[in-house]
Amino acid sequence: MAIILNFVLASEKETTQFSQRLAQSAKKNNDALVIYLEGDLGAGKTTFARGFIQTFGFDRVKSPTYALVESYQNDDINIHHFDCYRLSDPEELEYIGIREYSGPGHIQLIEWAELGKGAIEPADMIIKISGEDQARTLSISAHSKIGESLLNSLKV
Ligand code: ADP
Ligand code: MG
Repeated sequence: MAIILNFVLASEKETTQFSQRLAQSAKKNNDALVIYLEGDLGAGKTTFARGFIQTFGFDRVKSPTYALVESYQNDDINIHHFDCYRLSDPEELEYIGIREYSGPGHIQLIEWAELGKGAIEPADMIIKISGEDQARTLSISAHSKIGESLLNSLKV
């Protein structure tokens, strides 16, 4: 049975701050990490990913909707931000070399992961975002030991 924690966030700023808190915890381990971001269009998946990625020092984070993946690399980390919304076949992910995107020092943030089923790695953590107007609820579940320790680090 996976552990699930819920967090209520009142504004976009709180979502960004929360994503930065998660990123700070993720920074502390060098293990491969795969996070799925789930929720309807406009839920805040890209907003969350942007805050997370910026924490690692990358200022310009654009939505990978058209490019399928945007990668951010420096001496410390490789972050791969996927948006599979426009994916017609999971095989496309093999062509772009998704296999090289895993392993120590690699973090994958994946929007619309279900469309890449078969080609993408199983999630360590799944973040479901829902809500309307300015408020959002994040329902976060852990699916591996790494996911569990990361989720535990978010407990207040
Ligand atoms: P998705 O990637 O899930 O389609 P985006 O992150 O691109 O969604 O868009 C989310 C939209 O919702 C943005 O326009 C953002 O300003 C707005 N928004 C309002 N409140 C929040 C919140 N609490 N958290 C995240 N986004 C929010
Ligand atoms: Mg998006």
